[in-house]
Amino acid sequence: MAVLIVASPQAKEAETFHGVDLAGIDHSVKPGDDFFDYANGAWIKANEIPADRSSWGAWGVLSELNNQRVRDLIEGAAAAKAADGTDAQKVGDFYASYMDEAGIETKGLAPLKPDLDRIDAIKDKAALASYLGTTLRADVDALNSTNFYTDNIFGVWITQALDDPNRNVPYLLQGGLGMPDRDYYVSDSPKMAELRTKYRAHVAALLKLAKIADADAKAERIFALETKIAKAHGPRVDSEDVHKANNPWKRADFAKKAPGLDWSAYFKTAGLQAQDDFYVWQPGAIAGISALVGSEPVEAWKDYLALRLIDRNSAILPKAFVDENFAFYGTAISGTPKIRDRWKRAVAATNGSLGEVVGKLYVEKYFPPESKAKIEAMVGDLIKAYHARIEKLAWMSPQTKEKALAKLATLKVGVGYPDKWQDYSTLKIVRGDAYGNAQRAQEFDYRQALAKLGKTPDRGEWVMTPQTINAVNLPLANALNFPAAILQPPFFDAQADAAVNFGAIGAVIGHEISHSFDDQGSQFDAQGRLVNWWTPDDAKHFEEAGARLVEQFNGYKPFPDLAENGKQTLSENIADVAGLSAAHDAYLLSLGGKPAPTLQGLSGDARFFLAFAQAWRTKMREAAMRNAIVTDGHALAMYRGDTVRNLDAWYPAFEVKPEQKLFLAPAQRVQVW
Ligand SMILES: [Zn+2]
Repeated sequence: MAVLIVASPQAKEAETFHGVDLAGIDHSVKPGDDFFDYANGAWIKANEIPADRSSWGAWGVLSELNNQRVRDLIEGAAAAKAADGTDAQKVGDFYASYMDEAGIETKGLAPLKPDLDRIDAIKDKAALASYLGTTLRADVDALNSTNFYTDNIFGVWITQALDDPNRNVPYLLQGGLGMPDRDYYVSDSPKMAELRTKYRAHVAALLKLAKIADADAKAERIFALETKIAKAHGPRVDSEDVHKANNPWKRADFAKKAPGLDWSAYFKTAGLQAQDDFYVWQPGAIAGISALVGSEPVEAWKDYLALRLIDRNSAILPKAFVDENFAFYGTAISGTPKIRDRWKRAVAATNGSLGEVVGKLYVEKYFPPESKAKIEAMVGDLIKAYHARIEKLAWMSPQTKEKALAKLATLKVGVGYPDKWQDYSTLKIVRGDAYGNAQRAQEFDYRQALAKLGKTPDRGEWVMTPQTINAVNLPLANALNFPAAILQPPFFDAQADAAVNFGAIGAVIGHEISHSFDDQGSQFDAQGRLVNWWTPDDAKHFEEAGARLVEQFNGYKPFPDLAENGKQTLSENIADVAGLSAAHDAYLLSLGGKPAPTLQGLSGDARFFLAFAQAWRTKMREAAMRNAIVTDGHALAMYRGDTVRNLDAWYPAFEVKPEQKLFLAPAQRVQVW
């Protein structure tokens, strides 16, 4: 792997080197029996999972380092005492206000008073609708980050229309729940029933902390209202199905199709009174929630809205609120025993509100132009590799191939940071006003989103900040974002050789490209229109190759009573195999016909595969593993690392024998692309 940071969570000092982590290898394991363990076994034995985490590995180590770097940047900005209105002033004052626990304690609930008074002043349904309109925020994203959660009754996502690449439209999504999903309110599992009891206690505790009279009775009424909202919600699997979400409505349709809420009052205060075209993501839920606004008493809504306001802002209220919030959302819901240090929460909040301002500072310090140039060259090699692979495919019809190649040619790959930085000049940040800063930042973000209406979609716009350790495929924009934070060791190291970089970050880039052409990607054409461009025969072949991969992953059993679900993880497993195969081709292309050098005593192919498996190095608590198997679309990291068994080149690189556990006869190896 690239520069690997070997550090306990407590220790700051890092041991760095460029290449494969030889010390992490467990030579007592045969690579052909368990490649992941061979590549990582010694590291796994030598490292413990930190108390405030459910897993630990390459991503975790990098994220700790990254947090510290962002903190240094922000504290540097705070210390600079920059002029009012500058980026440094905004970042520094936002962070300092969040960190000012004493100031927050002294103020108590006073910062919320004007907003609580606005709720208290609601006298009738018309006033209720007007208030609700002011709560709409651009806080959901259905196709890129697949974030379906907002605790406001609705959330809006403003982006390209499903049927027209030249037009931005608002997509309206369901919301309004305090717990993460409708399942928490309606499932009969004992675990969910227990959480409901805890949630009711949490609501009552918050109302008491806020000195609201009659807290217990109000908590019951609020819970009853949320349960009705939950029953109106559609399940998550429906939200993930874009065909169920393809519901264009005119503004005038809302009163007819979703009566109850005074929509003209709602859209007016939401700033959408002039917008004629909408998409309604979950029409049943939008109609159900609107009906509840009509049928439930104004007083019940007022109690609910006050509670939601307090709950949502607990992190920047006095300590009693912070503790109550963590006890429920951190411990009861997520199983995390220990709250993260305040500075880490402050860094996360600053990233959330001033993402690209921090991102710009981050890129200047940690993402040199040489890294960007190197990654862009790697992306070029990967695109060439995909081009050749698609052309060679025996099962794909010529007309589908032509469309796939057109889509590949149009793919916009963002490396490090966006083409254009967002302009934050109209956002005001005031030192000592943590609550006001958070509200203004959300409002600013919403206004920025509204300003996109009536404009042509901008394919250069990013949905992740540069300081995020992740990567994303944007189906409507036919674009990819690779943030600067993932383009560093152990995923990418400008000083490591090509084998190591293609095995680690190259496979990640290949993975994201594959999503543009898989069962999901095939629903969007080169311009991001929702149309299926595959012939039925092509889809059938794709399913057959997939079926063998389903079987392979169903065979992984980490516990006697629980196996991987090959079907649930299929898209991601296909992306892994395709990404790794394309990355290997691209690595060979990058050699330009020259033989691969032997480095660290390892052949080029050996370094390539080891770098891949070491990028997936992860150690997980059993509860987290079991939870991931049930809820995650990705397989466990150890099995992702073992997918090397589908590539022919892996066999000679490690002299894998037929009697070894991971051995697959050539016909059983899955090659989708
Ligand atoms: Zn993926």
